[in-house]
Amino acid sequence: MARLQQLLSIALFLLLSGSSKGTLVSGLLAEGTKWETPYYVIKGPKPGPTVFLTGGLHGNEPAGALAAEQIRHWAILMGRLVVLPRANQPGLKAETRHLPELPREHADLNRNFPRTDAENEASSLIGREIWRLAQEAKPDWVIDLHEGYHFHQIQSKSVGSTVLASRPWDQRTRPFVSRMLAAVNATVEDPRKHFVPLRGTANGSLTRAAAERLGANSLILETTTREQPLSLRARQHRVMVRALLKEIGILGEGAPTLTQPRDRVSLRVAIYDGGGAGTSGPRNLQKVMKTIPRSLTWPIGPSDILEGALAHFDVVIFPGGSGSKQAAALGIEGRNKVREFVERGGGFIGICAGAYLAAANYSWSLKICNYNTFCEIREIPGVGRKSMWYRGPSSAVTMQLTPSGREIFGHGVEPFWVGYHNGPIVSPAGVPDLHDYEVLAWFRSEVFRYETQKGTMVNTPAIVSGKFGKGRVLSISPHPESSQKLRPLVARAIRWVGGL
Ligand SMILES: [Zn+2]
Repeated sequence: MARLQQLLSIALFLLLSGSSKGTLVSGLLAEGTKWETPYYVIKGPKPGPTVFLTGGLHGNEPAGALAAEQIRHWAILMGRLVVLPRANQPGLKAETRHLPELPREHADLNRNFPRTDAENEASSLIGREIWRLAQEAKPDWVIDLHEGYHFHQIQSKSVGSTVLASRPWDQRTRPFVSRMLAAVNATVEDPRKHFVPLRGTANGSLTRAAAERLGANSLILETTTREQPLSLRARQHRVMVRALLKEIGILGEGAPTLTQPRDRVSLRVAIYDGGGAGTSGPRNLQKVMKTIPRSLTWPIGPSDILEGALAHFDVVIFPGGSGSKQAAALGIEGRNKVREFVERGGGFIGICAGAYLAAANYSWSLKICNYNTFCEIREIPGVGRKSMWYRGPSSAVTMQLTPSGREIFGHGVEPFWVGYHNGPIVSPAGVPDLHDYEVLAWFRSEVFRYETQKGTMVNTPAIVSGKFGKGRVLSISPHPESSQKLRPLVARAIRWVGGL
């Protein structure tokens, strides 16, 4: 099914991009094999330089693949972009650096290209296909997107947060690299995490072969996976590529880093993974999204939201973590962007921390749903003053859908167990400008840490929904997305919020 959709979307793309005879057109590399992967040729209205952009040569470096996939939707002013987002498709699926199941000497795709002073031949099926495409493209620039495990300035053994220029053209590319570094480093506060230039790329790498054999200006861009969300790393790639494309005239001054996807999909979902988001929430939600046909899911961070990127989505999901930290990462301006998005008809789902974020009672909360959360501070004898939101480590409670809840989420055996990790206990806030919320599910059991919490959770709302402007808000206190069994419920929730 997913494969068919992909083929259909490529077919549609081919029709829309108006291919003409004798020119490179979008299509599939290694078609019909397990290495099969799409590439895209985007032409500007005027002649200009050709940029060959690749991502995902190493399967455990997802930000390059994501950034290339996003960049292929950019509107360019001239020249040509040839984009291969997922070079090592099976490796990306398995999250392994190497080409799965190949012998050691061919396993690293980025050592499969013609070596210095050797024959003009690449090794492995997918290596040969990529090299053929690169030769046909006759690129002026080859940009290969990768990730390192640590910041190079802090751990010099890693190439994380660097731009590597391939010889022999590294002198020629220098001023361009300076522009790219200035652009990305303006977005990085900690100077030790700044990107730095390096020279020389490995023998057998795509960029070195392209520099030596095709005369192309060739760069490897490396982000750092360590403690940085995927949305941020993909954004850093986009910021660097944008700086280069502006410099060579392919993009105009005000070009955004994230644009509307060209493919026709029925649901576009942004999953917030920035400050205050946990790591398991976005991962589980990605799994849910894979079950929704014709949908597109991109992770999103505060800088994307400030840039106005929510306009490209139907739904935004704020996952578990810390609501106040998510709010702090967004800042006042970012929070206003989220409110405006919902007001204009966007869908909002808050899970646990995200449900705190939607609440009406905090100075930092979005105030898009008419509830308060139970978070007052009480004196616990022998313990001290404690905030009532904390109920202990991750546990399980029972939950029961209301009749309206069943209409949205479907029927099942109820009440059922659901993971719970200090999600909000809500009650009406009575804010006059806000619609009343509707209860879609109740907690039928409870967890508590302190005696004063006893009886304050059982039979309170577990899931509520409300309207804010033209948009739908759905607040889920527990964690149905962390249970495989309950993921269909979350999928239905996302579709409902997105108006499907
Ligand atoms: Zn790599």
